[in-house]
Parts: sequence; C-alpha cells; structure tokens
Amino acid sequence: MAKILAVEDEPDTTTLLRTVFERAGYEFLSRADGPAGLRTLHEERPDLVLLDVALPGMDGWTVLERIRDLADLPVLMLSANGMECDKVRGLRSGADDYVTKPFGTDELLARAEAVLRRATRIPAPRDERYSDALVRIDRRRRIVTVPDRDGDERAVDLTNIEFRLLNTFVQHVGAVLTPVQLLEHAWNDPTGLGPERVKFAVLRLRRKLGWNRADSPIQAVRGTGYRYRGR
Ligand code: CA
Repeated sequence: MAKILAVEDEPDTTTLLRTVFERAGYEFLSRADGPAGLRTLHEERPDLVLLDVALPGMDGWTVLERIRDLADLPVLMLSANGMECDKVRGLRSGADDYVTKPFGTDELLARAEAVLRRATRIPAPRDERYSDALVRIDRRRRIVTVPDRDGDERAVDLTNIEFRLLNTFVQHVGAVLTPVQLLEHAWNDPTGLGPERVKFAVLRLRRKLGWNRADSPIQAVRGTGYRYRGR
C-alpha cells in the first residue's frame, strides 16, 4: 500500500486529505510544517508528498528544493494561488503536478494516482558504464563525474529523473530528441506534463553538470527538441 505524506498547516484541509486518501486505501501521514515534513520524509519514506505552498516558517518552495536536492520522490503541490506563474514555478522547481485549492477530491485523487503510476514505471539502463571526454557515468553505482577546469573529476549529484535524462542523451549522441521522446525515455511517460517539464529538467541537469553556458554539450534545437553533441 502506498504511503502518502501531506505537509499542510490547515487542519481542515488535512482532515479532508486524510479522508480522501484513507478511503482510497492509502496510508496517510501529515505534518504541519516543512522541517517536520522533511524529518518524516527521511524516517517514513513516503511514496508521494502532498506539499502546501503557504506554510508557516519554511515555505513550500523551500521544502520542495530540499526534497529535490535529495530525492526524486513524487511531489504534488497544493496552492490557493492559481496564477500561471506559480504553476510554472512549481514545475521549474521539480514538482510533479500542481493542484489549486479549493480542489475537487476526485480530481486530486486521480492526479495523485497518475503521479504515483508514473513514478513506479522506471526502465533500467542497459550498459554498466558510459564515458566520453565530457562525462563519465557508472550506472550500477549511479555515479556521474565531469572533468573540472583543472582536469580533475568532479562528482555530480543527480536526481533519478536527471540521471535518466542524461543517460537518454548519451545513448543518442548527435540526435535531436523531441520533448515527447525524452518524456518517453526518461520518464516513461509520453503523455505526461509535457514540454515545460522537460525544459526545466534539462535546465537543472545542465546547471548541475556545469553545462549551462552558450556552447553547452546539451543544445536546445529551436522548435524541435534537444541534442547531446558529445565529443
Ligand atoms: Ca497553508
């Protein structure tokens, strides 16, 4: 049975969430602030986090950043603010989906279950190692290193999605991959949240690898997709 953790400070909303998810057969935990939520995440290893944006003290965005530094755990953001910029911010920060309050309970449950399904269908990479002049990947040990300016190897911490995205690129050196192809390979989800999600994941991957300059090895091909040029 999947375990759901809600980080939500409004008791009425927490009660509603508990009713919805327990009735649907999930184990449900809740915490009223970010630090308690992060501790519980370590201790209880939930399968999905429902994360309120407006929390006392540490806000939901900061909590999301902390989660994303550590894990690819699916996160569904809850917010009273339905503005487009907030949705974009949520996706850019690595949220898996975004629901605006007041939400319909059927819709919320359906979206949570879609996020859970996507998270559990992850393909395994084939060869154990990849390396070229730009990057080395040890797939079994899940280690990625890039040469720094002095030629030393620098280890890069990637989330699971970023790791799969990088593997998808290096398996198709020189080829232009469309967002749909990347969703299919890296997310195993061609009908998912779409190009915005790919764009922000590529931006995060480039930043972490130090490839966010003009001559980045991962190039955006206008109107088409992305290409890893290799070396
Ligand atoms: Ca709140």
